[in-house]
Amino acid sequence: MKTVYAIGEVLIDFVATEHANDLVMAGHFAKKPGGAPANVACAISKLGGQSAFLGAVGHDPFGEFLLEVLGKEGVDTHLAQRTHTFTTLAFVSLSAQGERDFVFSRGADKELKYDKRLKKVFKENMVHFGAATAFLGGELEGAYGRYFFDALTQGSFISFDPNYRENLWKDGPERFIKKCLPYIEKAHLCKFSLEEAQLLSGEQDVDKALDFFHQHSEAIICITLGEAGTRLSVPKFRDTIASISVDPIDTTGAGDAFMGCLLYQISQLENSFELAQSIPVLTQMVTRANRAGAHTTTGYGAIPALPDTQDLEKY
Ligand code: ATP
Repeated sequence: MKTVYAIGEVLIDFVATEHANDLVMAGHFAKKPGGAPANVACAISKLGGQSAFLGAVGHDPFGEFLLEVLGKEGVDTHLAQRTHTFTTLAFVSLSAQGERDFVFSRGADKELKYDKRLKKVFKENMVHFGAATAFLGGELEGAYGRYFFDALTQGSFISFDPNYRENLWKDGPERFIKKCLPYIEKAHLCKFSLEEAQLLSGEQDVDKALDFFHQHSEAIICITLGEAGTRLSVPKFRDTIASISVDPIDTTGAGDAFMGCLLYQISQLENSFELAQSIPVLTQMVTRANRAGAHTTTGYGAIPALPDTQDLEKY
């Protein structure tokens, strides 16, 4: 079994516990572990896989809490870095009409430093790049690029999820899009939400978006479509893989559960690089990953709602 190294941010989401028109009005908040790459690492280990998280937290109680949560979920955190800057925080409120208000207090995640010893561990393993905060600058941006170069030169299986957050790119998405393209070109697996696929390709139609990506990339591309399942595409095959029917109560983390489940299955393969040619195997894996995403919507929060193997057997 290969280890999946998940690189990017981990943070605290302070989520307003009651509907409020905006954060000015919101009064009470619940502390939730967040950060897509950290969720993906948890999703992998919860299914019995090997994952390690590479990101930075502060020397403060929130940083301690986050590493404790990841550790309890079975994620290897010994590569995570602690800095003297405060742990990254996000505050979110939701109005009764479903409108979100969001502020982001960026802290420790931006200080991830490059560690050249990782070259050796990436070899024959897998590296997952989650980009929500990676291209916002700071030391993380440089370290991220160097880890990407290492993963490429070490022949690792590379996966990429842009995790676009509109609130973080107030001047517009152009720089974000430009930064993502080399990762899409070189990755072996990319996962986009429909909105991300449209943004990154400039195409509204899902298949035109996929055509655009395959002009630049031979990756396995999954466009997640919520209850409609996943549009799966490799250069020689394309299909929509249906999900299962569930009664969702909180969709947070569905995409990360999907990605974690897919990466977990790929980590079990002898030769991950041949997966794009094994369409029945790939389709089966995406079917299972859809179940993981669907299952996560049936519980509150991202990490607490991730499925284990027994949960997936139920479907
Ligand atoms: P995120 O909100 O975490 O950024 P995302 O938008 O990438 O995620 P979704 O498309 O919401 O992810 O969900 C990922 C996968 O989970 C979908 O492709 C689908 O298979 C499954 N899924 C999500 N919501 C539902 C649902 N309501 N019913 C059935 N399956 C679902």
